[in-house]
Amino acid sequence: MNRRDFLTTATTASAALALAGCNESGRQAIDYSKHPKHTADSKRVYVNRNKKTTIKLATSWPAHFPIMGTGVEEFTKRIEAISGGSLEIKLYPKNTLVPALAVFDACSSGQIDAFHSGPYYWKGKNSAFSLFSGIPFGFTAEEVNSWMLYGGGMELWKKHYQKYNLYPLLGGNTNIQMGGWFRKPINSLADMQGLKMRIPGLGGEVFAKMGVNPVLLPAGEIYTSLERGVIDATEWVGPALDIKMGFYKVAPYYYSGWHEPGSVLELTFNKHTWDKLADEHKAMIEVASSEMNANMTYKFHAENIHALQKLKELNVKLAQFPDDVTAAGKKALREVIGELGNKNKDFAEVYASIEKHLGLSKEWSDVSLGYFLNIR
Ligand code: CA
Repeated sequence: MNRRDFLTTATTASAALALAGCNESGRQAIDYSKHPKHTADSKRVYVNRNKKTTIKLATSWPAHFPIMGTGVEEFTKRIEAISGGSLEIKLYPKNTLVPALAVFDACSSGQIDAFHSGPYYWKGKNSAFSLFSGIPFGFTAEEVNSWMLYGGGMELWKKHYQKYNLYPLLGGNTNIQMGGWFRKPINSLADMQGLKMRIPGLGGEVFAKMGVNPVLLPAGEIYTSLERGVIDATEWVGPALDIKMGFYKVAPYYYSGWHEPGSVLELTFNKHTWDKLADEHKAMIEVASSEMNANMTYKFHAENIHALQKLKELNVKLAQFPDDVTAAGKKALREVIGELGNKNKDFAEVYASIEKHLGLSKEWSDVSLGYFLNIR
């Protein structure tokens, strides 16, 4: 019987549905006595249609901040649409409810339900957390997503965040970042010695071992510090966001980078809040965060390609670090990883997982994408 015949005969269709174990509505009729594991459905938490669920979500970005901020705004609208209004995410940009870098503690304690930020900010809590953002010379955006979703990354992240009563989801990726803006050209490792550079995270630790003097500055003070020569260089993100900061006006040398090849952004929930959510709402959040994760990555790429053209028109000098700088960076990274791994068993555990996936990933990427990018 073909499909059309099947659908034209109601009685036959009913019989066929019965054979397939379905009731008249076409839904699978489950005999729970034969499927003991499905009895867990009795514990399923359904959406209460009479009561709107509200989630307070704070971010580390100013309101409407390009790509990261606007990406979260799109996420909240998406949740509103797919939940039919039964789930509302109330957005609190940087400093409107809690300070930008207080979101982790505020969420852990339950002051807020969720936050959007970057795990590299929390290395002071546990150095292993910075690894969930990525490492210098590490994963690209595509590779880190493959580690997170299919290489054990998410399991480790959830396990270690649980100690802080937190539940992380992927919330975006900056895609490959640039090495930064320099007032003077870097012709050899000697030119890096004593250089004052705004560079946070693991990248900063690596640069410190190479002789650079890493400086931490609030975003609003970087341009003026660079202009006045208080710092000699700064990294930020990539063309799309960097051009808005105006660094090209005071530091014309723009270096390709290896310190943040695909930094992960997070959408993290208070674990108690997450556990209490209806199962449908959890699924909606997972779907919408997965979309946000992908879209932010692609948006960075799309905006970077246009911003790069504008920077070229502004006579920005594109450059690459000399080989001795890159070699010193790789050596410094091994030292930083070794030291942090010796001090912190969580770091060692997460890094072991990264090392395994990255080693295999590099080999595959070299024979496929690496080859292709070189000859394209
Ligand atoms: Ca950066």
